[in-house]
Amino acid sequence: MKQKDYLWKLQEIEKNLEQKERILKDVIKGEEISKRIAEHKCIKNDFETQKDILKAKENILRKLEHERRELEYEIEEIKERLYSGKINDLKQLEKLMKKEENKKEELNEIDSKTLEIMEVVDDLKEEIKKIGVKGGTLGSTIKNMLKERKIKIEKIEKDIIKIKAEKEALLKKINEEYIRMYMDIKSKKNNPVAILKEDVCMGCHMDLPVMTVTKLKKQDIVLCNNCGRILYPKSDE
Ligand SMILES: [Zn+2]
Repeated sequence: MKQKDYLWKLQEIEKNLEQKERILKDVIKGEEISKRIAEHKCIKNDFETQKDILKAKENILRKLEHERRELEYEIEEIKERLYSGKINDLKQLEKLMKKEENKKEELNEIDSKTLEIMEVVDDLKEEIKKIGVKGGTLGSTIKNMLKERKIKIEKIEKDIIKIKAEKEALLKKINEEYIRMYMDIKSKKNNPVAILKEDVCMGCHMDLPVMTVTKLKKQDIVLCNNCGRILYPKSDE
């Protein structure tokens, strides 16, 4: 192999390495996972909020039940007095009957209020169940994503070590002078080695003079007259 073949290979390896390092950075950053974790937190908050509301509604139900029992007791008491035969005064009887009627009305109100809240409680329970399922599913998705992420990172890191070793071995085969030249061009331009295709430098897309093309047949390392990249005729074996 000629020096320019090694330099071409070096460029390929470096490109591969840069790509792997970019991917590694993205995987470590884990934007998608962070998004899901934030989403999961929202669901959890929603879950807690709905549960608090449910607790408050259930407290109201308990209070209504208590009120109901008290009212029933009071009505029972009024009835006892009404039908005991001990009260003969008509006015007093009328007053008691009126009181019984009022208490019964109150009882009805409590019943309809109770029904209303029971419906809300049922809906809340259903909603909480749904949120719980959603949170659980997302939770296991996140768990899997984290597991996959760990495996991915390990694989890319292993790949990077392998590619770096490959690069080290290759660098030993290249003249230091050419490595310096390569690095110097790389510090100013991307892809310091450019393919030469039909007398055109694929680095800058300029037609090269015949002299340069002829020179490449005799000389290993020739630079593009226009962009200064190392020319690499791909058909050249
Ligand atoms: Zn060029």
